[in-house]
Amino acid sequence: MNNTNPSHSQLLQENQQLRAELAIVKQLSEMRTTELLRSEERFSLAMRGTSDGLWDWNLETNNVYYSLRWKNMLGYGEHELEDNLNTLTNLIHPDDRGMLWEKVQDYLTGSVGSFEVEMRMLHKNGHAIFVLSRAFLVTRETDGKPVRLVGTHIDITERKKAEAFDNKNTKILEMIAIGHPAPDIYDAIALMYEERHPGMRCSMLELDDNKLLHGGAPSLPKEYCDAVSGLENGPSVGSCGTSTYTGERVLVENIETDPKWEKIKHVALPHGMRCCWSEPIKNSSGKVLGAFGMYYNHPALPDKDELNDLKSAARLAGIVMERDQAQKRIRTLAYTDELTGLANRASFYQHVEEFTKAANRHNRRFGLLFIDLDGFKGINDSLGHNTGDILLKTLATRMKNTCRDVDLVARLSGDEFCILVEEIEDDYAAKVARRCLDAISQTIELAARKITPSCSIGIAHYPDDGKNLSTLLKAADTSLYTAKENGKNQYAFYKPELTYKAEYRFQIEQNLREAIEKKQLSLAYQPQINVNSGEITGIEALARWHHPQLGQVPPADFIATAEKIGMIQPLTEWILKTACSQLITWKIAGYRTLRMAVNISSSLFLDKDFVSLVKRVIDETGIMPDELELEVTESIAQTDSRNLSIFQKLKDMGVFLAIDGFGTGHSSFASLRHLNADRLKIGKYFVDDMLDDNKTLTLVSSMIEMGHKLGYGIIAEGIETTNQLNMLKKLGCETVQGYLFSKSVHADTISTLLSGNCWRSRKGSR
Ligand code: C2E
Ligand code: MG
Repeated sequence: MNNTNPSHSQLLQENQQLRAELAIVKQLSEMRTTELLRSEERFSLAMRGTSDGLWDWNLETNNVYYSLRWKNMLGYGEHELEDNLNTLTNLIHPDDRGMLWEKVQDYLTGSVGSFEVEMRMLHKNGHAIFVLSRAFLVTRETDGKPVRLVGTHIDITERKKAEAFDNKNTKILEMIAIGHPAPDIYDAIALMYEERHPGMRCSMLELDDNKLLHGGAPSLPKEYCDAVSGLENGPSVGSCGTSTYTGERVLVENIETDPKWEKIKHVALPHGMRCCWSEPIKNSSGKVLGAFGMYYNHPALPDKDELNDLKSAARLAGIVMERDQAQKRIRTLAYTDELTGLANRASFYQHVEEFTKAANRHNRRFGLLFIDLDGFKGINDSLGHNTGDILLKTLATRMKNTCRDVDLVARLSGDEFCILVEEIEDDYAAKVARRCLDAISQTIELAARKITPSCSIGIAHYPDDGKNLSTLLKAADTSLYTAKENGKNQYAFYKPELTYKAEYRFQIEQNLREAIEKKQLSLAYQPQINVNSGEITGIEALARWHHPQLGQVPPADFIATAEKIGMIQPLTEWILKTACSQLITWKIAGYRTLRMAVNISSSLFLDKDFVSLVKRVIDETGIMPDELELEVTESIAQTDSRNLSIFQKLKDMGVFLAIDGFGTGHSSFASLRHLNADRLKIGKYFVDDMLDDNKTLTLVSSMIEMGHKLGYGIIAEGIETTNQLNMLKKLGCETVQGYLFSKSVHADTISTLLSGNCWRSRKGSR
């Protein structure tokens, strides 16, 4: 606001003053030798045309002469200072006094040849000014003794300020280059301009959509910053609100009277602000990112320097803001799932760390919910990926809505989600899980179809179930598996014993592929006996896997795993070939009336290549198609057109088909109308109970009677007692299988049974 460059007329006036001062120096001088006069003249000539202040210290009397200019420089008038050394000492900044007198001594004693010092002096107003002090010594010609020290003072405050400003500017550029946090740089920028213009206070506001957000304002009261932050910009929202709105500079001379401040002057005036100039902060392509504001506590418009500074401050802040916003965008992209807008895996990992730290700090627990959508693959496959994406987005929003803002919902991959919740009350994680199950299972219309999605949720707690990310995730994943196994659309808590199960499953998964590839599995055989003749009419092949460490692995475990890891097809092909070849061996041995029954997983039965696989096996082994019986579970005996056509194709080929575990699955009797199968196999479940439970007996009796009437053969399995056998015989069941006759045994044992004629096996042709 104050222009320090002297005008031409001022300079002339000061020159005249100087000349007068030099005359006084002459008078004061007691040593009027020609030499001294000459040096004074030289000095006077040198001083002419400058605006320097002059001082003259008589070393013998200690009197000091200070020129008027010297006094004015420090804000004093002609008669306000005493002509002694104390005046000088007192006016030097206390921190620089020692240094100055040391230099004076050095010069006086001759240890240095010249005297030139930069120091701070105290202005009458209390502020410091920078002075360049130069002096030369006047010696007596007769004995060479120093008699006077004469010097000049030049006000170098402006140069010093410019230097300091440049240094700060460089420092700020360094901060930008190193990547300091934007708020720190905003503060540094504000302080730099505030130091350059005493009394000024600066602020930077960022524009987010239309909202003004606090960027930095180290000297403005927090109350004011809080009141402004969050305001929507507009044509009359103060200087910064207006400048961000119009994209133009806004100079408000008086906040009190300017209509642009009408709406918000009540938040500025109590804090003393009276004028505010605002420059929009723009990025390199001209987009408004925010505003730089300069405030004074008095009404004013900027002078030339201030205006220049306003522009350059906004430019500098613009560099920081643009870079900061770009970084924020990159961070957002790196930590957000693009499809759903939820946190992504990286963000989830970060949050687990934060939740862990907070839990440790406050000695509390947090829950991790591992969520997997049920049957999502089916939806994706049947309705297409676009529809699948819409479903994921919808369900992501539903999940988010079931949680508090502080809980974290993340999508880890595909249809896998995780929720982190602080256990703010007992059972809170379970409450969230229940809300999630409810929210997710709301019907949704997609691709003109009504879908009722569902999910399964595994819950693990920190620190009880895992003390780090991987153990915790594993625990949640294990409990998710349990929720799925228990029938889906439910949640399950983690229990330590689940880990053993999971470990066991993992071992099976790890080893099964190799076992199948290296044909390390074997087949056991169980005979099927005609109840009337006692003959072995068929053999059921049952897969066996003995693992050196895991021991005998139950078929239910490894068959399900083979399905999961995509190995069921090669496994079944091997079983079929081995069983059929074995039947050929027995045929060659003369047992020609046997049929080989092989269990077929429903997933493989429905595979498009299954029929050709069966055909290949028949061709390669030379078995007659009607010597092969495929046992399929009831679940695929549905009236689905695809299933029926597979049944038909196999029937056309001449293969025998049996419905395994009849009565235990989901098929209704109605489905029997359409099914092209040959036999119904009544499961052990009914046989076990039929003698003790009348209802079961009625069911068994009905199944046999109805099966026969519909033209199906009947076989019952799991017969362990003669009473069971007799009852089945009485009810008209023609074939049985069970421990009463034989457990599943090695092929050689079957050969022995066949030859031993245990239950009258018959050699000969069918
Ligand atoms: P499943 O087809 O119902 O097989 C009959 C199961 O009952 C066999 O168990 C058999 O050993 C057992 N069993 C037979 N008679 C008796 C009895 O009198 N008492 C008792 N307690 N059990 C009896 P296993 O071999 O453990 O097979 C279990 C299930 O695993 C089979 O049930 C079948 O669904 C599946 N499985 C076995 N081998 C294969 C295979 O090669 N492929 C497919 N897809 N599944 C197989
Ligand atoms: Mg079976």
